Amino acid sequence: MTIPFIDLKSQYQALKPQIQERINRVLDHGQYIMGPEVGELEERLADYVGVKHCIAVASGTEALLISLMALGIRPGDEIITTPFTFVATAEVIALLGAKPVFVDIQPDTYNIDPALIEAAISPRTRAIMPVSLYGQPADMDEINAIALKHNLPVIEDAAQSFGAKYKKRKSCNLSTIGCTSFFPSKPLGCYGDGGAIFTSDDTLAKFCREIRVHGQEKRYHHTRIGVGGRMDTLQCAVVLAKLDRFDWEVERRSQLAARYSELITANCQLPTIKSDRTSVYAQYTIGVDNRDVVAKQLNEQGIPTAVHYPVPLNHQPAYASTCGGGATPVSELVAGRVVSLPMGPDLSEPDQDRIVAALLQSVQLSAS
Ligand SMILES: *Cc1c(COP(=O)(O)O)cnc(C)c1O
Repeated sequence: MTIPFIDLKSQYQALKPQIQERINRVLDHGQYIMGPEVGELEERLADYVGVKHCIAVASGTEALLISLMALGIRPGDEIITTPFTFVATAEVIALLGAKPVFVDIQPDTYNIDPALIEAAISPRTRAIMPVSLYGQPADMDEINAIALKHNLPVIEDAAQSFGAKYKKRKSCNLSTIGCTSFFPSKPLGCYGDGGAIFTSDDTLAKFCREIRVHGQEKRYHHTRIGVGGRMDTLQCAVVLAKLDRFDWEVERRSQLAARYSELITANCQLPTIKSDRTSVYAQYTIGVDNRDVVAKQLNEQGIPTAVHYPVPLNHQPAYASTCGGGATPVSELVAGRVVSLPMGPDLSEPDQDRIVAALLQSVQLSAS
């Protein structure tokens, strides 16, 4: 039997009454756009994260885009970010005519290397956008210190890290702005697209709220250029229902990750989580030699895998000619080695044992 890469069906079964009740409530009141669940979710999430403002938006990508627009990013501006991420991180920069400047990653956490950031700062630099990859916050203190010195805002792309902790704080509350995604496979997913922006800056929050609805300050009065970026009431209702089980899910992901790391005794690079933070394991990703062979063999045994990410963004055709930054040898090396294993709160121990057994066998075979 094929093991699901992320088991959303079991999660739904566990939460069915809450989810159906929440959805039915929306169908009954009929306020599909900006209904009461939107504000309710924003309040719950702002409390959870510990910031003043949460703005629910149409997706994680839209959260990043609206944040950059609220910061006034314009053509010719430069934003420092990592090349080892999902394309949306750089896409929103390029969409505004600005230039992603890629800085290489650390070989253990795969997050942006703060030691390389200052060399990439130019007179055109307008922001730093680290990604908290696979669910582990980047080195935010070091990044914030550099940003402060150069008077730059920091946007945490926390699409994969909602629920993670960094020192005493939560991801999305670690810098000027935090952005997350509720894409179904993310740690806190809805049943379609959704995302959120977090900030404690009143002005930025106001701008984000206006940009989310076509840049309007009040109805049909447009003070800035905006987008159609609202999150559906129905999707907010789904996230509200899922919040009931979220802390348990985070704990369960962490247990399963620890169990993977204990059982995988073959010659693999296991995830490195720094001691002052946690990961929510949006992905459990290991590094192996002969990655493509290992992935193929697992797949043949009904074990799906994924590669996050096979090509660093500075080598993607759409970005290769327009981005800045120096060489990124670590990203290139890592992109050829990583493979993500099935992960999620509803992965069972017997299935995990099967995955590990197949992996160990495959790693040994492909090495001999
Ligand atoms: C998923 C993801 C996004 C985009 O989120 P969507 O909700 O799919 O638009 C952005 N950045 C990273 C790092 C992601 O993993």
